[in-house]
Amino acid sequence: MATSLPKTMKGVWIEENGGVEVLQYKTDIPVPELKEGEVLVKNEFVGINYIDTYFRKGLYELPHTPYILGREGSGTVAALGPNCPSDLSVNKRVVYMGQYAYAEYTPVASKYVTPIPDSISTKLAAAAVLQALTAVTLIREAHAVQKGDWILVTAAAGGVGLWLCQLLKAVGARTIATASTEEKRELAKKNGAEITLGYEEENRDDFTKKVLEITGGEGVAAVFDSVGKVTFDASLACVKRKGTMVSFGNASGAVTGFALGRLAAKNVKIVRPTLFNYIFTREEYQQYADELWKFIEKDGLNVQIHDVYPLKDIVRATQDIEGRKTTGKLLLQP
Ligand code: NDP
Repeated sequence: MATSLPKTMKGVWIEENGGVEVLQYKTDIPVPELKEGEVLVKNEFVGINYIDTYFRKGLYELPHTPYILGREGSGTVAALGPNCPSDLSVNKRVVYMGQYAYAEYTPVASKYVTPIPDSISTKLAAAAVLQALTAVTLIREAHAVQKGDWILVTAAAGGVGLWLCQLLKAVGARTIATASTEEKRELAKKNGAEITLGYEEENRDDFTKKVLEITGGEGVAAVFDSVGKVTFDASLACVKRKGTMVSFGNASGAVTGFALGRLAAKNVKIVRPTLFNYIFTREEYQQYADELWKFIEKDGLNVQIHDVYPLKDIVRATQDIEGRKTTGKLLLQP
């Protein structure tokens, strides 16, 4: 069953890799047709994630062109393809992860569409789903964080970063947070970080020294590093013997050419995870989504929304996140 659907919709697509100039706002994109097991979501809020910039620039390969960027959103079910789960119905409020989110309507594999609990707003759901689930899976699976662990978080005032600060506090870990400005560091502290440090080039050796001092010379149980290329070495130097280096992002460029033998110095484990491989099945997705809603409801975790941009202002929104001007979550409204 479907609500009456228009033939065309607004959306943002790219026809080639490049700078922000390749982002094209269109008003005549055909509304997608559904395949077996897909749900069509009418987006109310769409989340911007740093990964969108990797697809645009070509660091991650585009599956086809033209391509509609965007990997998460929330809204209502507009139509259901054959064989969708019975907990999904037309007009139900849902949140999802997938592809093609920078648009009015998005087709999504039903295993990644989940009803939004009554206590959670449609806006909060879109602002949380990808970045908060990333943070939950990182602290549970990439390194199973224990109460009392010292943990280092880079880009701690960013979208994923602020969730990590809050979650780590909620599970009793002690967070050392890095961010590029005093204002960002203050925000990380308000979200649960115990200690904050600058990590611009001139501070980088200094931050390793300080982390070792703070942890009594031992180092941290784990680093959650999303900056990649420019922080990798300094972050690795902060990990304690038998600790974990979790490299989960490339904001400054990809880490390449790592010599495995370096891990032997402290028997460090290294992980390069992606969220989608932790929530591959519907059961895994639902398990982590339920855990996230519980953290929000019981521990009062919340999201800092940097701004809600109209979809047509996608260039400004993208420039803001790439220009390191933002804290917390950026949302689009179609
Ligand atoms: P953020 O809101 O964290 O924005 C990126 C931040 O990175 C900036 O605000 C900036 O903070 C920091 N940064 C450091 N160096 C640079 C640089 N050279 N250029 C731009 N920014 C830089 O984005 P997200 O929360 O969306 O994503 C955070 C990271 O997590 C990304 O690397 C993303 O790819 C990764 N990620 C990985 C996932 C996975 O499954 N592996 C899933 C989701 C996100 P500051 O100014 O404080 O340095």
